[in-house]
Amino acid sequence: MVYFMADRYYFGFRYSGITKSTLINGRGLRVVLWVTGCEHACFGCQNKELQDDKEGIPFMKDDFNHLLAYVNKPYIDGVTLSGGDPFYTKHREGMLDLLKMLNEQMQPKKDIWCYTGYKYEDLLTDPVAREMLNYVSVLVDGRFSIFQRTKDVSEHRTIPYRGDSKQRIIDVPASLYNNAVITLYD
Ligand code: SF4
Repeated sequence: MVYFMADRYYFGFRYSGITKSTLINGRGLRVVLWVTGCEHACFGCQNKELQDDKEGIPFMKDDFNHLLAYVNKPYIDGVTLSGGDPFYTKHREGMLDLLKMLNEQMQPKKDIWCYTGYKYEDLLTDPVAREMLNYVSVLVDGRFSIFQRTKDVSEHRTIPYRGDSKQRIIDVPASLYNNAVITLYD
C-alpha cells in the first residue's frame, strides 16, 4: 500500500533495479522491474539474492516515475514485473497500487507481464491477488525446477520466456473471461 515516508510516498516493497530494455522477459522489447521478496526457495533459483525482502532499496514515487518514463519510450512494447516474486504475500497491496498506476499512466497502454512462483488458481483465492490479476496481461506461473530445466534442455525443448516447461504462460484476460486457464506459446 502506498504511504508517506519523509514526505515521499513509498509502495511498501523494495527492488534491486530496472532493466531498461530486454528481449528475454516477455514478448518484444521490454522494461523489467526486479522486486525483492520471495518465499518459494526454488532449488536452482537464478535470482537467489532477490528472495530476501530486505534486499534492494525502497520503491518510491520517484522510482515509479523513472519506470514509467522508460515504459513510455516509443520503442518499448511493455513492462515485466519479476524478482523475487511480485505476488509475494507481504507486498501485494503495494504491487496492486503499482499495477493500477501503470495501467492509468502508460501512454499509450502497453502489456504487463508478471512472473510468479504461485499458481494462477491459488492467486484467484486471495482478494488482493485476484484484483492484481485485473491489470496483468500475461502471467508466467509456478515454481522453477532446475531438474525440469535440465530435462527440457536435454530433450531440446523450446521454452521461450520461462525457466522450465512446467511453468505456464497464461493469457490472464482470456482466462478470467472464460473461467479457465488459457495458455500461450504451448
Ligand atoms: S519463484 Fe522465482 S525468485 Fe522465487 S525462488 Fe523460485 S525461481 Fe527464485
